[in-house]
Amino acid sequence: MTELVLRGGTILTIDPEHRVVGGDVACIDGRIVAVGGSYTPRTRDYHIVDCAGCIVMPGLVQAHVHTCQTLARGRADDLELLDWLRTVIWPYEAALDEEGAAAAGELACAELLLGGTTAILDMATVHHTGAIFEAAKKSGIRATIGKAMMDADDPHIPPGLRESTTSSLDESARLCERWHGSANGRLRYAYAPRFVLSCTDELLREVGAQAKERGVGVHTHASENVAEVALVRQRFGKDNIHVLDDFGLLGAHATIAHCIHLSADERRLLAARGAHVCHCPSSNLKLASGICPLPELIAAGVAVALGADGAPCNNNLDGFLELRLAALLHKHRAGPRAVPAPAAVRIATLGGAAALGLATQIGSLEIGKRGDVIAVDISALHSVPTTSPWSAIAYAAKSCDVRHVAVDGALAVQDRALVHLELPKVRERARAAAATMFR
Ligand SMILES: [Zn+2]
Repeated sequence: MTELVLRGGTILTIDPEHRVVGGDVACIDGRIVAVGGSYTPRTRDYHIVDCAGCIVMPGLVQAHVHTCQTLARGRADDLELLDWLRTVIWPYEAALDEEGAAAAGELACAELLLGGTTAILDMATVHHTGAIFEAAKKSGIRATIGKAMMDADDPHIPPGLRESTTSSLDESARLCERWHGSANGRLRYAYAPRFVLSCTDELLREVGAQAKERGVGVHTHASENVAEVALVRQRFGKDNIHVLDDFGLLGAHATIAHCIHLSADERRLLAARGAHVCHCPSSNLKLASGICPLPELIAAGVAVALGADGAPCNNNLDGFLELRLAALLHKHRAGPRAVPAPAAVRIATLGGAAALGLATQIGSLEIGKRGDVIAVDISALHSVPTTSPWSAIAYAAKSCDVRHVAVDGALAVQDRALVHLELPKVRERARAAAATMFR
């Protein structure tokens, strides 16, 4: 048995009553056994970390990232989506080898954990998804990962990324069998058709059926860019969300990144099917894609989450930046009460958990849930004085304030240092792999 006690913080529970309490959070064998008050260890094998001066809260959950792209940070600035994909990202992914994928995955997981993100929904590339799973496993992060699926006959897709419908489905099935539910359930699989334009009708239909059959998620992109929406209309004679629904991909198990350019009808359909939308504000601004109408989605009853997307379109994987931006970005249009601080913090935690299909397991600090917990130091000058912890987390705190991070009741970051990865090695491996790739 292992017992972890995060001692003496201000606890932002994100429970149904939005309780803020003082005291300890304790986990035994990965599960939360106490929230608030003074806790006495129940076993001999306990570990106490000091959280005085910290806000203790559920870890941030990012429901749309591409850890495999991290080596291309700073390589694809100031481009719009389709150029960005065709001229840099797809050639990069086509050239990525096993070592590059491993180095990118480790770098991403290290950055995510140090910044307080404890769980991700990750779209890998077409090949080497096993290396991404291995990196996530080693780092200690909770990850739902899927291999990108791209079987469309599109001349813009480089040969290194093209695959047949059968090989795409077979490889996905193999990865799902190997990894889904492994590492005590910390690693999971989700089917990841890149977007409808990268896939044949046959593949989309099969993914719709197989994801349901296997009881796993679907992770894709839609309606990110005006030119993409026009191409979808040209091919299918209808809009993205209706296309996804036709192929059986829409449901509570589906998370769709971006959803910027939607009709009111598409918003209603997303809500009716219980599908999740992942808002990626930095990525959308940088690629000049537009701004996801988050207040309208919420008003329509659509479940929403946040994500940093990838290092080449952000250029960080910083959950606190996305949280702050999501809270600020919609106010100029929808008024100062659009996405208020408590709502933004809830979306960044429990909203993400729901998008990963894990709302009953993580996303809030409640007895019986898994111990995905972070302690955020609010003694830095930019957080002083602290009045409301909601305000501190949404508007003032930064990822560098994250002091401790636990996933599944085990520390992955202690006193701002990685527990399972060596930071200098991660940095050097990433630099070397990037140098080889971009030689
Ligand atoms: Zn993306």
